[in-house]
Amino acid sequence: MSVHQAVLIPGDGIGPEVTAAAKRVLIAAEAPVAWMERQAGIAALERGRDLMPEETIEEIRRCGVALKGPCTTPVGGGFTSVNVQLRKKLNLYAAVRPVRNLRGVPTRFDGVDLVIIRENTEGLYSGVENQVTDGVVMSMKVATEVACTRIARWAFRYANRRGRRKVTVFHKANIMKVTDGLFLRCSRMIHEQEYPNIEYQEMIIDAGCMKLVQDPTQFDLLLLENLYGDVVSDLCAGLVGGLGVVPGANIGDELAVFEAVHGSAPDIAGKGVANPLALLMSAVMMLNHLADTCKDESCRAAAERIKSAYDRALADGRKTRDLGGDLGTEAFADALIERL
Ligand code: ATP
Repeated sequence: MSVHQAVLIPGDGIGPEVTAAAKRVLIAAEAPVAWMERQAGIAALERGRDLMPEETIEEIRRCGVALKGPCTTPVGGGFTSVNVQLRKKLNLYAAVRPVRNLRGVPTRFDGVDLVIIRENTEGLYSGVENQVTDGVVMSMKVATEVACTRIARWAFRYANRRGRRKVTVFHKANIMKVTDGLFLRCSRMIHEQEYPNIEYQEMIIDAGCMKLVQDPTQFDLLLLENLYGDVVSDLCAGLVGGLGVVPGANIGDELAVFEAVHGSAPDIAGKGVANPLALLMSAVMMLNHLADTCKDESCRAAAERIKSAYDRALADGRKTRDLGGDLGTEAFADALIERL
């Protein structure tokens, strides 16, 4: 059995707690992964490194995959966001966030099963901001035909492969006619020319958010530009139990970095109460990605073991506090390990 090298970035806030718990579960599940631990975020700054050390970037290039805890970017001081740097430097242009009900986590809606595909490299998160004059600042929303076409093609191909029937683009092209207009044109073009078999729908984002909270089961795959994808991901997390249960992946043509949708949660950091499930589910996505790209079914088997363990633990009422339970981070990891 071959062992896959993967970078592990503990990150900041609750990051070290949830990555340690997830790592323990993966080891107990005999996932064929060897961890190369590297730093990013405040944790890197505190060790005298850059916020996003080149060495960490290089190690991800070498290994091909990483599991990343949330990283904090200090406010002020001119730092470029860790996540923005990582996604741009490694060209991880597609963020994938599956949003599903979990057995044992009752929520307002049953049957939620949608996936968010977010463009990860441009839009208002391009970081082109400046002071025009005293008291006047501006931020530039960048959209390129290359990146809009690339993410649309990626989203439709994903839908096609995974049996998703409908792609819905959320936009604000009625106001941002040029930038969101380009995003729409590229999405339409890919739909018409390459995937006419998949249903295609456009929705102004404010109306789309209302429909999401009224009945999320009407959506299948949501395709969004960067900022909209960020905001709508948290909204959708709220539909299925919160940020503790939504995993994610940032994927490029060669590399992939897996991370939970949630941030560093400074309000609960260091208290041992964070839910490690979102990061663990991200690790499951990583194992399935390795199974697909390296044709290694032992990765898929480990992913299945972990999934079955957390399904059973939740069904038995073994949950962290954010889901209405009373377990801490480590106790929840123990509950999974007992069920492996
Ligand atoms: P950032 O700016 O890094 O995104 P934030 O505080 O704005 O940080 P999150 O870190 O995502 O956003 O946290 C939002 C809320 O969700 C907080 O109240 C936090 O405690 C809660 N939360 C986030 N992740 C988890 C988790 N894994 N387990 C339990 N609660 C969580």
